[in-house]
Formats: sequence, structure tokens, C-alpha cells
Amino acid sequence: MLITNSRLVTWDEPNQILENQAVYIQGDKIAEIGPERELLDRHPGEERIDTEGQYVMPGNICAHTHFYGAFSRGMAIPGPVPKDFPEILQKLWWPLDRSLRMEDVRASAEVMVLDAIKHGTTTLIDHHASPNAIDGSLDVIDDVVERAGVRAVLCYEVTDRDGEGKAQAGIRENVRFFNKIKSQPENASRIRATFGLHASLTLSDATLEASVQAAPSNSGFHIHVAEHEIDQYDSLAKSGVRVVDRLHRYGILGPHSIVVHAIHVDAREVGLLAQTGTWVTHQPRSNMNNGVGVAQVESLLRAGVNVCLGTDGFSHTMWEEWKTTYLVHKLWHRDPRRMNGMEVTNIAVYNNAALVGTFFREAPVGILMPGAYADLIFVDYHPHTPMTAENLPWHIIFGFHESMVTTTMVSGKLLMVDRKVLTMDEEEITHRAREQAPAVWRRYEQQFRP
Ligand SMILES: [Zn+2]
Repeated sequence: MLITNSRLVTWDEPNQILENQAVYIQGDKIAEIGPERELLDRHPGEERIDTEGQYVMPGNICAHTHFYGAFSRGMAIPGPVPKDFPEILQKLWWPLDRSLRMEDVRASAEVMVLDAIKHGTTTLIDHHASPNAIDGSLDVIDDVVERAGVRAVLCYEVTDRDGEGKAQAGIRENVRFFNKIKSQPENASRIRATFGLHASLTLSDATLEASVQAAPSNSGFHIHVAEHEIDQYDSLAKSGVRVVDRLHRYGILGPHSIVVHAIHVDAREVGLLAQTGTWVTHQPRSNMNNGVGVAQVESLLRAGVNVCLGTDGFSHTMWEEWKTTYLVHKLWHRDPRRMNGMEVTNIAVYNNAALVGTFFREAPVGILMPGAYADLIFVDYHPHTPMTAENLPWHIIFGFHESMVTTTMVSGKLLMVDRKVLTMDEEEITHRAREQAPAVWRRYEQQFRP
């Protein structure tokens, strides 16, 4: 397939915007990028897509999300509004994830993945919880992802909050799914696995130990850390040390592991995250919504921590997350020099791609170059000022909208063309979720009745 009549954003280092160049895709990868005339001459019979002057760029990557959260939209929380993050967990997320049956796990994932395709997010790292539908839940999500055609990394969040039996079931689900994925040839699948843990505050020493013992070697871990001070208070009470130290004792940190949030960490913890090469993900929209504070992202970066960008289950509109990142640090520090566009790009583009590269080692993701996976989006953006490789971050922050994404491709396969999703039936998915939502909400509300 040849993509013609476009402007190419490579997200190479340094970034380039190429004009009059075409992209030749063979199978699941980019085979050639070169002068359009030459490529047209060399591949005369090849299927062509004329983008009519759109920008073609690597699909966006979301480093942390929750496919299970779709039914929260518009749902009322009974009683007084939660006053802090621990109450939000107890009154919203935990009763909600307990309300999910297997068909809801599927419907929620469908809604979220559809949202990702429409908004140009082609790779997603998910963190799943459904305590009353654990066994096989990752297969259900795997099936949704596989049919939809996106790229994903999946895990199940192990936690003690629903008792020992369910903690054990969570461990088994991670291990079973990891081994299933491992048994498939790497280049045949767009899905990878890691080992999910909820957060230090809902994990006993025994469960942490059991998880580490059970986790296959180099599976890495995906865990929320210090999203709120309560995680630190809890860790200090349980173990005498702070959260990152506690996880380090168990060998949970490292270059295959993802630590989510890291808002309330101290200097020693930042040092440990850097030393161990652990990935940290930043989700500023979620942090603002929960009123939990702002991670010291610039300090983390200066200390050598690899910070990435996720949505935490918000809509998979990564440029919205860019914009929030760009704005919130300026406000938080009352300093407009904070978090400039290049820093946002380093996090959202280069670090996210590097993180995904630890899971997909056979070919690069998140870059336009020969040999890379053909995960692309077309963006119908027509700037009224000059746009260059250098000022692109500011065009994205102030000019791009996800509604400008018209076409989404993953591994050389078109998932959406001219805003029509090809791999999923949008109407049917919306209808099914709407039919199931009242029962999910009923099961949720029942947990508040005496
Ligand atoms: Zn999360």
C-alpha cells in the first residue's frame, strides 16, 4: 500500500516533517519512505491512499488506562460527594468494578477501544479489574483488542481488597495470560502481557510475596504508586518504609515495570525509580479530577526517571492529555516557563515509544521509519501559521484536536478510514453497552444498601 499526497511527521529524533514523500507499506511494517514520484514509479500496481494533504504521523500511545471504566460515565455516586481519593476508591471504583460481569468486561473494553481508534490512539497499556469475573477476563479483553486491531499490553490488578481467594485468582489470571501470550510467536501478535498489581495500600506482604514468586521472569509489574498520601501512610504502618522502598524490597521495580502516578514520592524514592530504570506514567486529567496533587514530573525527568503519559481511563484523547500536562504544571508552580512543549513531547512521544519498545522488541513502534510497525494516523489539520518540526509541539497543544483524526492504521491494517471505523460496529457496541449499563448501575447501587 502506498500513502501519497501527505505531509509526514516522523517523530524521529530530531523530529522531521517531510513533504512530497510517500510511505510504502508492506505487510505490517513501513517498507520505504521516499520521494513520491520515485515510489509511484517503483510500485506501479500498488493500492494507493491519497490523503489529500493531511498530516500522516505515528499513532498515539497511551501508557496507562483502564478499559473496565466505561460504565462510570454519567453514573451517580450515592450519598455525599467523596471528599478525597480514598473515598473515591471506596464509593466509586471498587463498587463499580465489583459490579462487572464478564459480558460487561467485554462491553466496557469495546467502548474504550472504539474510542481509542476514533481518537488516533493505536497502542494502549491497560490495567484491568473485575473481582467478580476474574478467570478468563484477560482473554475477553484480548479478544476485543484482537478483533478491533489495536496494539495493547494487558494485565489483571492483584489486590487483597476482596479477600485472599480473589487475590490468588488475580495472580493466576496474570500468570496464565502471560504464559499464553509468551507461547505465541512475537511477530504474530499485537498483544503483550505484564503482571498487574493494584497499589501498595491494598496489598499485604503475603500477597506481594506470592505475586513476585508467581510472576514469570521479566514479566515486569504495572502498579499504582503514591497516587495519594494514604499509600505512604499505609506502607509506613505496614512495613516501616515508604511505598517505593517497599516495592523495591520485593524486586518489583526495574526496566520492565510501570509505576503509575508517583505523586507523593520523596527524593529517595525518586532516586530508586531512576536507578532501577522503572517507568513512571503521568495522568494529569485523572489527578486533577481526584484532587490528588501534581507529580513533580520535571524533577523526575531531571533525576533520570523515564516519565510517560497515560489517560487513566479518561477518553483516549492523548492530545487532551498533552494539553493538560502543558497547562497544569504552569498553574501548579505559578510559572509559565514550566513544562514546555518539548518536554511534553519527550514524555508523550519518545518515552511512550521507548516503553512500548520494551514489550514489542521485534520492530519499532511510534516512529515513521522503514522497518517500523505501520501504526499511523491521518490528521486533517491546516495550520494558518508556519508549522515546522521544531514548533510542532505547540501546534499540537494549541491547534490539534482528536476530531481531526480521519484515518487510523495499526500493523498496516486500516481500522478507520475517513472517520468510519471498519473493524468494529460502532452502533452495535454503543447499543449493547447502553443495554447493559442499567444492570451494572443497579448492582453498583445495591452495594450501598444496608
Ligand atoms: Zn490507574
